[in-house]
Amino acid sequence: MLDTRELGRRPGSQREVSRSVPAPADLGIEVLHVPEGSPVDLDLRTEAVMEGVLVTGTARAGLEGECVRCLGAIDDEIEVDLQELYVYDDLDTDPDEDDETSVLHDDLLDLEPVLRDAVVLALPFQPLCQPDCPGLCVECGARLAEDPDHRHEEPVDPRWAALTQLTEMQQDDTRQ
Ligand SMILES: [Zn+2]
Ligand SMILES: [Zn+2]
Repeated sequence: MLDTRELGRRPGSQREVSRSVPAPADLGIEVLHVPEGSPVDLDLRTEAVMEGVLVTGTARAGLEGECVRCLGAIDDEIEVDLQELYVYDDLDTDPDEDDETSVLHDDLLDLEPVLRDAVVLALPFQPLCQPDCPGLCVECGARLAEDPDHRHEEPVDPRWAALTQLTEMQQDDTRQ
């Protein structure tokens, strides 16, 4: 919540707001999110306009998540742009007209829905620990990023085993 009383209602008046707020719960998506209670750094400018208060700025926060390829931990940061017009609630407007309108209640504006939307939009649906994460070994599940030269013996698929035998027999033939 941001108090806009100091800003006043004279169109054109502006205030810079820089503060750190604890992250609300469920900020992000399941596989990548801002840990609840961790700091969200806000750098905002509030500007009084005719119909309300225009908020623009950025929010920065730490991210925690899991790589979809190797299931390794992701430790990252996010910075999102925020822009929202909060309309004065005592103006003669029809609240059903547009459900998406943000309203200023008692000169307080609620940043959380705007922050939530911006963060969710900015997050990748398939987060990776690194852009070219090689994922897991299909045979043993080892993380290939930690062991790139990882190899296994010949596959044990019976069709391959039969082929191997055949090759060995041919080799025996040429030796005779
Ligand atoms: Zn990974
Ligand atoms: Zn393996």
